Amino acid sequence: MIPGIHVSVRGGLDRALDTLTELGLSCGQIFTSNQQQWKGRTVTEREIERYSGRSVTIISHASYLINLASTDRRVEKLSVSALETELERIHILGIKWCVLHPGAHLGTGEDNGIRKISSTAKQILLNSPGNTGILYENTAGQGTTVGHSFTQLAQLLELTDMPEKTGICFDTCHAFAAGYDLSSERAVLETMNKFNDTVGTGRIKAFHINDSKRECGSHRDRHAVIGEGLIGLEPLRFLASMLEFKEIPGIAETPGTDSDRAQGIEKVVSQ
Ligand SMILES: [Zn+2]
Ligand SMILES: [Zn+2]
Repeated sequence: MIPGIHVSVRGGLDRALDTLTELGLSCGQIFTSNQQQWKGRTVTEREIERYSGRSVTIISHASYLINLASTDRRVEKLSVSALETELERIHILGIKWCVLHPGAHLGTGEDNGIRKISSTAKQILLNSPGNTGILYENTAGQGTTVGHSFTQLAQLLELTDMPEKTGICFDTCHAFAAGYDLSSERAVLETMNKFNDTVGTGRIKAFHINDSKRECGSHRDRHAVIGEGLIGLEPLRFLASMLEFKEIPGIAETPGTDSDRAQGIEKVVSQ
């Protein structure tokens, strides 16, 4: 696994590149726009220039407000437009992947939610600029969110039916909270085998490496500092050492500063 962190963009998107360099990391995840607001952000000339010459791998994380399964017409429209503009922004910046929380069905049922998310995503991806695409992130299964089971992730990919423009971002805290044990080497092997049988580990394009404050199967999304949660450091180290994930970014999204996250992820990937 290639160590990375979710990195602050305070001071501009280009500032994130400097932070990664200062921390000695070659990959990072950014919000290209305020994740809690519908209003998008325009990328500056300076940011475009810095990103075109960068030497680090960057992925983006879409706004938390987006829900492609929303039953509210207004939210649905805002979600589509927010995802479209996110893909346009990352295209301008030369970023391929945007991580997306699949969404919440809000009472209409999981199958219905998955169908709606997939068909909407497909329409957006058919028109997305360049080779930009989305990584469906597995969820903890809090509330009516979908994408918490490996079967659902497989359905999302299959129904979206855009293999070159879709993949999975595997969040260790969310998988654990959703009921997939990762708290020992044996559990990691079993869980990843299960994932491989259902989705295929080749579809994983990024990891979120987070420890969990809440127990396995709690359906609660509470990230813990790596090594201080109920998963623990050793199983995460084991996962990171798996050969098939050698070239895959492992992004820490744990509490604290950029530098705290860098220290955490270095512990996971160091030999
Ligand atoms: Zn996320
Ligand atoms: Zn989370």
